[in-house]
Amino acid sequence: MTLVRRNFLTRAAIAGSVLAAPAVVSAQSKGVFNWKMTSAYGKGSPFYMDGPGSATDLAKRIKEMSDGRLNIQVYGAGELIPAFEGFDAVRAGTVEMNHANSYFWTGKTFAAQYFTAVPFGMNFQGVNGWLYDGGGIDLWNEVYAPFGMVAMPCGNTGVQMTGWFKKEIKTVADLKGLKMRIPGLAGKVYANLGVDVKVLPGGEIFPALERGVIDAAEFVGPFQDRRLGLHKAAKYYYTTGWHESATVSELLINKAAWDKLPKDLQAIVQNASAACNVISEAWCQKANSEAMDDLIKNQKVVAKPLPDSVIAALRAETNKVLAEAVAKDPMTKKVHDSYMAFKAKFDRWSEISEEAYHTKVRG
Ligand code: CA
Repeated sequence: MTLVRRNFLTRAAIAGSVLAAPAVVSAQSKGVFNWKMTSAYGKGSPFYMDGPGSATDLAKRIKEMSDGRLNIQVYGAGELIPAFEGFDAVRAGTVEMNHANSYFWTGKTFAAQYFTAVPFGMNFQGVNGWLYDGGGIDLWNEVYAPFGMVAMPCGNTGVQMTGWFKKEIKTVADLKGLKMRIPGLAGKVYANLGVDVKVLPGGEIFPALERGVIDAAEFVGPFQDRRLGLHKAAKYYYTTGWHESATVSELLINKAAWDKLPKDLQAIVQNASAACNVISEAWCQKANSEAMDDLIKNQKVVAKPLPDSVIAALRAETNKVLAEAVAKDPMTKKVHDSYMAFKAKFDRWSEISEEAYHTKVRG
């Protein structure tokens, strides 16, 4: 009995030393990084803050992949800083990371718009082709270099919906005088066509639409819009979004902090972000197909695309808005030219591959 016990203790001691030693060496030699990540979206927001591919999922994946060497504390909008102050906080190094969309920073640098969504732009596949293999991410970093930041895609909603309208839109003249919640470049396009544009945070959209403070609103897509209750405040749901064809979530990182990370942790951040880019979009496909089915069948929503003549007017106005932006700023021109050159080739390829499959083969 004594012998057996001694042998057991010896084996346990050996096993313990073998197991414990590498962890101690790893933490001491490679260092542990404790970072903060803020978000433009509130705590618990599906897709953005909670669920597959969200900010909290990204932080969890990074922690697991790095064996606890990179710990990222995630803060929803308003917890540490207000929703739209992530750019300044990361720039100042107050936080190391921010999770949002680059089109919120168009007031800082207009070219940032292109890394979220371009009206009449590419779909999820095309946008990823441009970002990962067409020089898009390099340009993104070039745009942010003067601000001491780097960025990468970390999520995507896929195509969004045009939005909710209290009255039917039959011609472009019906847009005139409408009060509508719509951010980004699309807001500028609508404004040029006579819309009174309002930019409201997500939580304020439903009460404004219900009380008639606004007549129309764009948010994301069926799942997110239904969660806000927009179908209870407006009858017409105009579908496939001309304004946001594949909306990219942005992981914004302070460059000085990034440069201090060892190469393996940088690779983990890049790979976890790429994983979340795909996983979040996959979740949207499931969530939106279920929500749209419910909205049409059970909530009796009138769901249809905008009339062709309205789409044509929006397209013409978008081209004018983009041309003006390109003429004003060389960096915007550089990003615009890169995006559009990629899009021209992608559109031709897409027409004979994916689009042909959907329209001629799938059935
Ligand atoms: Ca949107």
